[in-house]
Amino acid sequence: MSEIQCPNCDGPIQVPHHGSTVVCPYCSTTVQVKTGEILKESYVMRVQYSLEDAWSKLLNWATKQLGAPQDLERKSKIVESELVYYPFWVVEVEADGDYVGTQKKPNWEGGGRFTSFTWESVEESGHLDIEKDIFIPASEDVPKALLEYIIPTKRKEFFSKDLIDDVAGKLRPVQVERQVAIDSAKRRMSLLLHDEAMKEVDRVNIMDTTLNVPAVFLVYIPIWHIKYDFSIRKYNAIVDGASGRVISLKFPRKMAFRAMTLFGGLIHLGVGGGLGLLLVYLGLTQFDGVFPTAFGIVFGLGFLGYALRFLKTAFTLSAEEEVAG
Ligand SMILES: [Zn+2]
Repeated sequence: MSEIQCPNCDGPIQVPHHGSTVVCPYCSTTVQVKTGEILKESYVMRVQYSLEDAWSKLLNWATKQLGAPQDLERKSKIVESELVYYPFWVVEVEADGDYVGTQKKPNWEGGGRFTSFTWESVEESGHLDIEKDIFIPASEDVPKALLEYIIPTKRKEFFSKDLIDDVAGKLRPVQVERQVAIDSAKRRMSLLLHDEAMKEVDRVNIMDTTLNVPAVFLVYIPIWHIKYDFSIRKYNAIVDGASGRVISLKFPRKMAFRAMTLFGGLIHLGVGGGLGLLLVYLGLTQFDGVFPTAFGIVFGLGFLGYALRFLKTAFTLSAEEEVAG
């Protein structure tokens, strides 16, 4: 811990380890530690879903999942909950890219029945124009399930510590510098441009890119961490308190569901394999022509395919499942 002075009210602000942007506990001003400047573009999403709302969203969602116990709602209850505000940098990036690449194209030769072709590399160029808000997690504590989350920030409000205290939220400190976030957003955008170009050509030889960052802001997202128990075991769930979206949920998978899936696989294997072999056998011994044998093979393989899909599901199903919403 170190300490800086608030540029707005002169109050002392404790800076946590690796802290890059801190909030003054006295006047709610967001201060950039390195430069001592006030960060005006600091926002927060208001909680629209209380713990009860988040919990009913979870149950509702869980009952729609395959193999989730129907008595989940009746038999489970919340044992622990926490509302955490995670900071994200939102970097608006405008990208312009001119690329030159090569594309393989068939070169047709001859005519009539003797048409043949060879592959020829053709140079192609194009222009790309992409505008995107890129989210950079600003704290090491941001849960994995949130890393790829597209956060709806339309209804953001100016940061105020009161909004967070009113709902007993816990603020995670910002550990990523503003400039670091901008740089990594730009890198991500460059990769995106390259990926887009690769949809048009097989190889990108030259990429002339211009990146602009018209806006950067910090936004705190309220996330419910819920621990609940169901028949003596405990499971974790994460729900976005602003949008109500279920981000991740662990729930017990019914044993009966797993057994059914396994049984289904074995039935397909037995019936398909048996009938297929029988048809092949009859085709070879009782009938003339290749058709019955071929039909038997195709029929058998078809069932085998179904059987494998069932078995794969049965074996990859674990007793509990985590699903990103
Ligand atoms: Zn202050």
